[in-house]
Amino acid sequence: MTSILKYHNETEIQQAVDTSRQTFRSGYTRPLKFRRHQLQQLWRLVDENTDAICDALYKDLRKHKNETILGELIPTKEEINDALEHLEEWAKDEKVTPALVNKVGVTCVKRKEPKGSTLIISAWNYPIFLSFGPLIGAIAAGCTAVLKPSEVAQHSAKVITELLPRYLDSKAFLVINGAAHETTKLLENKWDHIFYTGNGTVAKIIMKAASVHLTSLTLELGGKSPAIIDENANMTVAAKRIAFGKTFNAGQTCVAPDYVLVTPKAEPKFVEAMKTAYKELYGANPQTSDSYARIVNNRHYHRLQKVLTENQSGEVVIGGQSDEKDLYIAPTVIANVDRDDKLMEDELFGPILPMIRVNDVDDAIEYVNSRDDPLALYVFSSNKKFVNKVLDSTRSGGALVNDTLMHVAEGNLPFGGTGPSGMGNYHGKHSFDAFTHERATMIKDLNPISEALMAVRYAPYTNGNLKLARLALESVPRFKKSFVLKHLKWIVIAIIFGIGYKRLA
Ligand code: NAD
Repeated sequence: MTSILKYHNETEIQQAVDTSRQTFRSGYTRPLKFRRHQLQQLWRLVDENTDAICDALYKDLRKHKNETILGELIPTKEEINDALEHLEEWAKDEKVTPALVNKVGVTCVKRKEPKGSTLIISAWNYPIFLSFGPLIGAIAAGCTAVLKPSEVAQHSAKVITELLPRYLDSKAFLVINGAAHETTKLLENKWDHIFYTGNGTVAKIIMKAASVHLTSLTLELGGKSPAIIDENANMTVAAKRIAFGKTFNAGQTCVAPDYVLVTPKAEPKFVEAMKTAYKELYGANPQTSDSYARIVNNRHYHRLQKVLTENQSGEVVIGGQSDEKDLYIAPTVIANVDRDDKLMEDELFGPILPMIRVNDVDDAIEYVNSRDDPLALYVFSSNKKFVNKVLDSTRSGGALVNDTLMHVAEGNLPFGGTGPSGMGNYHGKHSFDAFTHERATMIKDLNPISEALMAVRYAPYTNGNLKLARLALESVPRFKKSFVLKHLKWIVIAIIFGIGYKRLA
């Protein structure tokens, strides 16, 4: 398929890399006033171009305007508001209490320094938020950034390319378009941080490129996120929330529930509840519903079609229909799927929901733990013991009890994976942190009195000095620390000071 996007050539790519680096080195992006203004401009970009952005998303994914506004634009604007509200607080030096060895004449701070010239590589499924979300972190932290939107969501990438220079400072924030070749060219350069969103296979390429320059990385990846359902849970509510998570953006969401684990007893009830939920969401024929998005392109349509047709086990109990011309795959539920079925190999990233039968919660936990750590884990139960057992015995990037997707919308929670589902996190202050280096900074005075306290560390080494130093600095085990012992230390310090001062005098 020919792209409407104009890919940048190698000269343009190099120019963008150089501009980003030079601008950062000049200190241009560091002042908080500059960062604040750029964040406000990004807010205006989103606000003043809502229709154009919604239109692009409709062309890329047949996304309903409501889904774009709820899933991309509101979260972007909220992230900007949060950054604007807390910028000074996040960016200011953080004082830490010095340890005993540095008690006198010393100030210790974590300076919040921008990492530098950064590269943001974005994915197609939420092309606006996945581009602007990290960009907000980069701007707030005082970095420069080159943004590489996904070429797969080409209308969205085009709109970003047109709008960004109209609102943001092009010396600091640049867009490069292209696919693997252009991204490879970008990756050949030395960056101060790379923020990548996408699949795990490409993540390995990114990581390899980053390793050449030992560049720090945030990897926002995916995985097969399970939903464990307690057989005593309210199936009507659970099913509605799972149906929502599985078909928002036609299931092309990194944290979509990939599959469910249910007992055979609960399975029929859950299936009935899913039938009702899908009917309520999209009517009798989802293909005619304007609320239901489409698969992004032919390649992904055929990938999903293949897993559907190559499905060796299980029974399609809901949906199963597809239409290539329309890139339509119906919300589909497949019951009693084998644990090692093709459907259970890779992240589905589409509206197909396999159900795996489990004996009980322990069986469900064992199955989840036999696989890679997922990006999200969902558990549906009103029984605290059940919920805690699942949370205590499994690992995942994030976890959500009794709903799907919504934990991602909580800006105060870090969003990211663990192991194969990702590395690092962002959202809210975590986005600022992702693009910030905490520079451990100690500031001392040149006062002779402080110097006297340091005397025991200098050569020539003597047993006496060592004894005094150990008495002063070696911690009494904290569990034994009494009030008297605590003050005894200050007495010893006073003695050392006395001796040191005498020597210096
Ligand atoms: P994609 O095809 O848009 O690729 C992502 C980026 O990688 C694009 O900008 C693309 O140009 C670049 N790229 C592709 N091949 C490359 C190569 N060989 N070398 C260098 N760069 C290359 O998106 P995708 O990978 O299909 O995205 C879907 C995956 O991303 C799913 O696994 C999903 O779970 C995950 N995802 C994760 C998050 C998250 O925040 N954790 C969000 C969205 C998607």
